[in-house]
Amino acid sequence: MGFSIECLGASREVGRSAFMIHTDKHIITDYGIKIFDESGHPVFPMETETEPDFAILSHAHLDHSGCLPLLYKNHNIRWYGTPPTKDICELLWQDSIKISEGLPYSPAHFNKAMKAFSPMLYGQTTEFGETKIKMYDAGHIGGSAMVEMEYKDKVLLYTGDFKLEECQMHKGAKTIENVDVLMIESTYALQDHPPRKETEKKFIEEIEETVDNGGNVLLPAFALGRTQELISVIREYNRDVPIFVDGMGREIAKIYLRYGKYIKDAQTFGKQLRTVNMIASPADRRTATKQPGVIISSAGMMNGGPILNYLFNVNSESKVIFTGYCVKDTNGWKLQNGGYITKDGQDLHVDLPVEKLDFSAHAGRSEILKFIKDADPKKIILIHGDKTEEFAKELNEVHGYDAVAPMRGDRIDFEE
Ligand SMILES: [Zn+2]
Ligand SMILES: [Zn+2]
Repeated sequence: MGFSIECLGASREVGRSAFMIHTDKHIITDYGIKIFDESGHPVFPMETETEPDFAILSHAHLDHSGCLPLLYKNHNIRWYGTPPTKDICELLWQDSIKISEGLPYSPAHFNKAMKAFSPMLYGQTTEFGETKIKMYDAGHIGGSAMVEMEYKDKVLLYTGDFKLEECQMHKGAKTIENVDVLMIESTYALQDHPPRKETEKKFIEEIEETVDNGGNVLLPAFALGRTQELISVIREYNRDVPIFVDGMGREIAKIYLRYGKYIKDAQTFGKQLRTVNMIASPADRRTATKQPGVIISSAGMMNGGPILNYLFNVNSESKVIFTGYCVKDTNGWKLQNGGYITKDGQDLHVDLPVEKLDFSAHAGRSEILKFIKDADPKKIILIHGDKTEEFAKELNEVHGYDAVAPMRGDRIDFEE
């Protein structure tokens, strides 16, 4: 037998990325959570009936890592990832335990997971029985990896989340050739992002205009990845505008600097970071709103986090700029589509202009097609997307590939 892939999540959906790859070993490949589900509560991956030998995480985003501690309820296995992935997971998992009710794991499982980590570095091959595993930079967030597995002369590549285009924090992933089975994220398979440089310029113009008029620019942003990218974009173009950062973005920036090799230019980012005001108290928050400037704060979709405090405490010259995707019915989505948010069960009107700019850390359509073309796989498994069925049809009928869009619970076998 060759490879076999069990889809436990992120199949015809974005969220709860989780797979089990069977070779001579049984390998859990990501084990994430879906925080914003249509059901209104978080959902988790399926459990597998096979006893896993070990687990691998492509990166620390909770939709890939958030349920890993759950495995430590019943299993005593090691898990692998890049060193920054481990440090960021520690921070995010601790935070999840604090804020989320109904999490399926306890602090005891978290502690067990933290002790079971072994590092895996980009470009180094590790052998597990007859299976060889190697990670590559995925260009998505600090420490993000694509995972290559070689078994009986066949190569399977799991992209995790990736981006080819260069941005401020990352050079971008490189495409990989000679892949037999390609498991590729398809978040933006049907949509291209505008060129990053254009978006950056528009972003800086918006900031400078608002600040010149005496307002605050509120940037709801994920603490992991987006916050660091935005700091770096602003400082690349404007050395003087005051930047305030609230939420966990500061701790994550410190991890980025600790593992400087995992970002494009740690020296420059270190300098940029020293010009940023880190919010540590309610008094700091008041200071931030009393002067024109930029406030970057979690949560990115405005579902909780300090960003909600700012919305009603800035002057009327201020503006909100979203730089990432907001799931339907989150506060970010409500603000963009209806001019209101919901807090403590109440709908509150927000009287500020709202803009949206696309700073996505995911590959757009052209990047996905280029990746597939260079990999030239015999089989494509489309995952981590809402439109994977449609994209599979296009790849098969227009481009002549053999692509499938599996459903959760599917198991795909490959003969030798
Ligand atoms: Zn991600
Ligand atoms: Zn993801």
